[in-house]
Amino acid sequence: MRAHLITYGCQMNEYDSHLVASELVSLGWELVDSVEEADFVLVNTCAVRGKPVEKVRALLGQLRKEKERRGLLVGMMGCLAQLDEGQQMARKFGVDILLGPGALTSLPEALKKHERFFDLTFRQDLLDYIPPPPKGALSAHVTIIRGCNHHCTYCIVPTTRGPEVSRHPDLILKEIEMLKAAGVVEVTLLGQNVNSYGKDQPGFPSFAELLRMVGQMGIPRVRFLTSHPVNFTDDIIEAIAETPAITRYIHLPVQSGSDRVLRRMAREYRRAQYLERIGRIREILPDAVLSTDIIVGFPGETEEDFQETLSLYDEVGYDQAYMFIYSPRPGTPAYKHFQDLPREVKVERLQRLIEKQKEWSYRRNLEWVGKTVEVLVRGVAKEEGYVQGHDRGNHPVLVPAHQAPTPGLYQVEIKQATPHLLFGEVVGAREPAPIPLPVA
Ligand code: SAM
Ligand code: SF4
Repeated sequence: MRAHLITYGCQMNEYDSHLVASELVSLGWELVDSVEEADFVLVNTCAVRGKPVEKVRALLGQLRKEKERRGLLVGMMGCLAQLDEGQQMARKFGVDILLGPGALTSLPEALKKHERFFDLTFRQDLLDYIPPPPKGALSAHVTIIRGCNHHCTYCIVPTTRGPEVSRHPDLILKEIEMLKAAGVVEVTLLGQNVNSYGKDQPGFPSFAELLRMVGQMGIPRVRFLTSHPVNFTDDIIEAIAETPAITRYIHLPVQSGSDRVLRRMAREYRRAQYLERIGRIREILPDAVLSTDIIVGFPGETEEDFQETLSLYDEVGYDQAYMFIYSPRPGTPAYKHFQDLPREVKVERLQRLIEKQKEWSYRRNLEWVGKTVEVLVRGVAKEEGYVQGHDRGNHPVLVPAHQAPTPGLYQVEIKQATPHLLFGEVVGAREPAPIPLPVA
């Protein structure tokens, strides 16, 4: 019995795919690298934008043909599976097993049944499930909170992933202990809004308290994704400042620099409040590396609104940004009530924003030249003769391959910068792992 997993979307999906892979292995399945070798293909889907949805549609079409040819079992999980749109697709393409993001622990039951199995419930045992550490990994994710209580008008996530539910701190710490024992040197705490951790469960620690606990476990690097500006409070900034293991990489999605647009997005902060939070971060953590998410071309966004996003970018001077063209998602308030802008307008604004991002990333990257940073080398780079890793600020760093022959943490002096990469020379190593380099 051989299974192949295909994952679209965010780090939370990567974590869920690992969780499901571990369920399959414990049921006796062998994991294989291609559809051709597999008896069961499971697709972990994303529904945040139209593009990944179309990719899944095309893939399910191909899998149906393969199924007709040789009786393949096909499964679908993740955000799209939770939506009517995904369930219709599943019926059309003959999907056998469909599991919403809260129903992943139903997989063993689904595999026992010899009929179509759909589960869209949110199961408590999913929160308790601790997947074993991924083999040979130096970096791993740990989900600390599932779901989202915000209602941004463009976003489908609250519908697909349900309300916020925090995992018990004892389970989180146990999972991280196991990762540490397996040699993991970097842990990323995951959630749609990690700052909300603990608020839904009386007696649980706050996110700041959890950060301090995890930061004292002896893992060299602890990161977290994603934060919401509305509750990125001072106690979190202070916990980062006082806990050396926590990296000073802060991803704080702004979405837009215009108050008019933020209001229509139902983001619960305004430009001035966002900039106040950035000011506080810069005051307490002057070496913080800042990144953001921005949506361009939200319905009704005028040129003046867009100019405000550009000017906010200049005010913050982000190191990195993830920029998206607004994608209307059926089921969201913005889809229902607002007229989409013409595609040319959205694309042209995105191009201007990308130029801005390149300028700032280059300026910020140049500031690192001559400094020594800790790089977690993970694999062979696309650039010949180099291996690639990332520093504590999440910058991709390339070093000559012969200087870092095994994955692990290295001290690297940065010699050169481009808008997207830093190049350096190894000046010291810290416990490189004795295993051969995989492809990055
Ligand atoms: N919870 C996180 C937050 O609020 O920042 C991120 C969750 S969301 C999966 C990741 C990013 O996708 C968002 O920050 C937003 O920029 C983008 N996004 C969500 N819905 C979108 C849409 N309909 N069109 C374009 N981008 C979208
Ligand atoms: Fe989506 Fe907003 Fe929730 Fe983030 S905070 S997941 S953008 S609804």
